[in-house]
Amino acid sequence: MPVDRARRRFVGGALASAVIPLMAITPAGAQELERLSEDNAMAKSLDYKHEAGDVEHGSYKSGQTCENCALYRADAAGEGWGGCSIFRGKAVKGSGWCSSYVKG
Ligand code: SF4
Repeated sequence: MPVDRARRRFVGGALASAVIPLMAITPAGAQELERLSEDNAMAKSLDYKHEAGDVEHGSYKSGQTCENCALYRADAAGEGWGGCSIFRGKAVKGSGWCSSYVKG
C-alpha cells in the first residue's frame, strides 16, 4: 500500500475513534444552549414559567408542559432541559410552559 494512502487511513481512523465517543456521551448542541431565564423579555411576553404549575394564563390547560409540546427538543440540553423552536439558542425546562404551546 502506498505511504500516502496508509497515512490517510491512519489519520481517518484516529479522528473517528476520537470523535465517535464524544458524540455518544454529549447530546447534540448541549454546550451551546444557555438556560432561559423567566426574566428574559421574550419569555415574559409569552408568559414562560419553568414550572407549568405556576402559570396563570387563560390558554393554559392542566398537563401541558414543554416536554409534551411539539416545539420541544428533549435531547438538546440534558438534565430536564431541552431546545425550543420559539426560544432559539436557549434551553427551556421540560416542566415549563409558555403561551406558544403546541400540542405534541
Ligand atoms: S413553545 Fe413549547 S417548548 Fe417552547 S417554551 Fe413554549 S411550551 Fe415550552
